[in-house]
Amino acid sequence: MKLSIVVPCYNEEKNVSLFYEEFTKVFKKFKDEYEFIFVNDGSKDNTFLELKKLCDTKNSNIKAINFSRNFGKEAAMYAGLCEASGDYVSIVDADLQQRPEVLLEMYNTLIKDDSYDCVAAYQEVRSEGFVLKFFKDAFYKLINKISDVEFVRGASDFRVFKKVVRDSIVSMGEVNRFTKGIFSFVGFKTYYMPYKACERANGVSTWNFFGLFKYAISGIVAFSTLPLKISTFLGGLTLMGSFIYLIIALILGVNTSLMMLFFIITFFSGVQLLTIGVFSHYMSVMYSEIKKRPIYIAKEIISASKKK
Ligand code: UDP
Ligand code: MG
Repeated sequence: MKLSIVVPCYNEEKNVSLFYEEFTKVFKKFKDEYEFIFVNDGSKDNTFLELKKLCDTKNSNIKAINFSRNFGKEAAMYAGLCEASGDYVSIVDADLQQRPEVLLEMYNTLIKDDSYDCVAAYQEVRSEGFVLKFFKDAFYKLINKISDVEFVRGASDFRVFKKVVRDSIVSMGEVNRFTKGIFSFVGFKTYYMPYKACERANGVSTWNFFGLFKYAISGIVAFSTLPLKISTFLGGLTLMGSFIYLIIALILGVNTSLMMLFFIITFFSGVQLLTIGVFSHYMSVMYSEIKKRPIYIAKEIISASKKK
């Protein structure tokens, strides 16, 4: 098998067969063997039924993994990578925002220059609002300052890479997955290729501002311990401050007003709560890692092998 195309799907009943048609049309020119690995991530619609139909009718290499519930795109990508047997592996969204022509170009770029291990597509221009852009910029600035690995602004999970990259990603079995960070962590020589994402073919995006914010926090927690250090620093600083305050109060003969007292009490409680909050967030992530629960649970895996 030359190329495995991993496709995470959540509520994509209207897109999966369209995806298959569009990709096979373009990949007709592809001389080598390739396979589709669809992962139905606990869709509430008939995505899996559509995948079953594809497996039953098409003369092609299709595999479909059916999750027992929704585990999230990160888990779906991981499951797809685990099943991928190609010398080259790619991850593509099911909604046709990422076009097959672009994937082919990425693949050709990768095989042309053997010194590269991965080609990652990134959106040069993004059609997003000012507020979202501001927060995304802030996130990338922050994470690149506080993490040891580099995060490229705009780089997506839309990538093609060699088997060796796939193997190293699969070997990272963390439950709280942040694939963008995992790609940076494993390293390998990556070529960043600009592309323009199309509109979603059907359905709606699962991401909203709150979801993205949570995702950003999980990225920071997974790839930096600086927030823990900051909270320790903050704790030390306020402790010192309170001693200084005590000395001043003693020198001045303890005549602070009620307002000042109120301010200090709330300030210190705020710092304490913040510190405890940061600690407990890291602890909750550790807790879920320690339990070693599976990243996903597959109900069934079906496939369509070449029919005569
Ligand atoms: N997806 C998934 N599990 C989820 C949410 C999304 O597998 O819980 C898939 C979805 O079907 C799509 C890809 O992840 O193929 C990207 O999702 P979406 O299009 O909603 O995100 P966006 O393009 O807006 O970033
Ligand atoms: Mg999309």
